[in-house]
Amino acid sequence: MNSENFSLSEKIVSSSYVRQGSQARRGHEQLIRVLLEQGKCPEEGWSESTIELFLNELAVMDSNNFLGNCGVGEREGRVASGLVARRHYRLIHGIGRSGDIAAVQPKAAGSSLLNKLTNSVVLDIIRQSGVRSASCCFVVPMATGMSLTLCFLTLRHRRPGARYILWPRIDQKSCFKAMVTAGFEPIVIENILEGDELRTDLDTVQKKIDELGAENILCVHSTTSCFAPRVPDRLEELAVICAKHDIPHVVNNAYGVQSSKCMHLIQQGARVGRIDAFVQSLDKNFLVPVGGAIIAGFDEGFVKEISKMYPGRASASPSLDVLITLLTLGASGYRKLLSERKEMYNHLAHELSTLAQQHGERLLHTPHNPISMAMSLSGLQAHSDQAVTQLGSMLFTRQVSGARVVPLGVEQMVSGQLFRGFMSHAEAYPCPYLNAASAVGIARGDVDLCMKRLDKCVRSLRKSAAPHSTEDTAPPAPPEEQDTAA
Ligand SMILES: *Cc1c(COP(=O)(O)O)cnc(C)c1O
Repeated sequence: MNSENFSLSEKIVSSSYVRQGSQARRGHEQLIRVLLEQGKCPEEGWSESTIELFLNELAVMDSNNFLGNCGVGEREGRVASGLVARRHYRLIHGIGRSGDIAAVQPKAAGSSLLNKLTNSVVLDIIRQSGVRSASCCFVVPMATGMSLTLCFLTLRHRRPGARYILWPRIDQKSCFKAMVTAGFEPIVIENILEGDELRTDLDTVQKKIDELGAENILCVHSTTSCFAPRVPDRLEELAVICAKHDIPHVVNNAYGVQSSKCMHLIQQGARVGRIDAFVQSLDKNFLVPVGGAIIAGFDEGFVKEISKMYPGRASASPSLDVLITLLTLGASGYRKLLSERKEMYNHLAHELSTLAQQHGERLLHTPHNPISMAMSLSGLQAHSDQAVTQLGSMLFTRQVSGARVVPLGVEQMVSGQLFRGFMSHAEAYPCPYLNAASAVGIARGDVDLCMKRLDKCVRSLRKSAAPHSTEDTAPPAPPEEQDTAA
């Protein structure tokens, strides 16, 4: 209500009560004012009533909600179902304009404002999470793989002659497909085994540049967050190599926003060398449904160029979800989630290590991986060939999700390329293992229950002389279902 309406209300209800009501409203508006003024994530989370008030204010600014609107176009923000309208807070027009996902939409001032504010709040969180010098970012309504594809396609205009992408191996199908779909030939750089860890082979990266010629290489495509025993790439060194040879550098930071280590690597890489863009998943970092990613960078011009590559308009849902989430949590709430995650990492490592020892196995030593860890399954493998894959299916049927069993010797074709030792990031890792991750949102109960069930499964597999005689004859879980990312 505006002041005029408040005055009118005073003729109906006692003016002192109305004044109190109007002051209460000003409290909500004050929060909205600060958001519009600063474009930053509020330190303290908002109540649902403030958020809904704000979203309703945005929605009435869009033409589909104008009382006098008569549309005769082919896209007028019409929806048949009230459920659908409410699911989107009546923001129906999406974001962007035909040629640019970041452009303002004349028919939808509210949705356009939502889009700009979301990008600005998300940039604030990325900076607060450790990439202090990030200068620009935007939310895309596509998951990480497709967002990487968009980055590669943008680079093609800058380097029309380039055919290759140098890619330190990480066994995740979507990041490999991201390069192939964009029309490039990935040059797979096998990792080096250092202790238990799989790390970037910088010499081979350098050798490949000399061999192929820098001008024929579209970019280096590196990765931070990944399943142990692989660890985040040596970003600083890669960034220096890229700067030296004038080769662009795109970083897959899929679930790295939640880890100060991954974010620090990106910040340092950009400081000492070259990083053109880094891409992160919305759902893996911000507890929202799957479907969005953030493309961020240090050069505003390049990030804008990527957003201009996006053809047509786009769904506003991922932006709306992440904005609502960050307003609900506030910066302090998000920090709290991250510190709980770190605590659970230590708890999980301790529990998994204890469990491993009890079964003659060990927690692999992967101190450079801040999120994922791995427990060897060498003893189980020695016990029986099938036991390892069987453990995977047992955990799956016992509703332990995300604990990923990696047997030796899996061969997998991905977009025409054969990967030996697939899932393990190496052609011949020394032992089979089981992965577990402490990712944002994990609760102590998740860890404890998972350990209990894992213990039971391993125990029963070790007891059974012939694995076939156990109650578990379920076929191995299909790889897609097992392949849950952290
Ligand atoms: C999740 C993930 C991706 C991308 O998966 P999308 O389904 O496209 O979001 C790529 N690389 C890694 C390391 C991942 O964890």
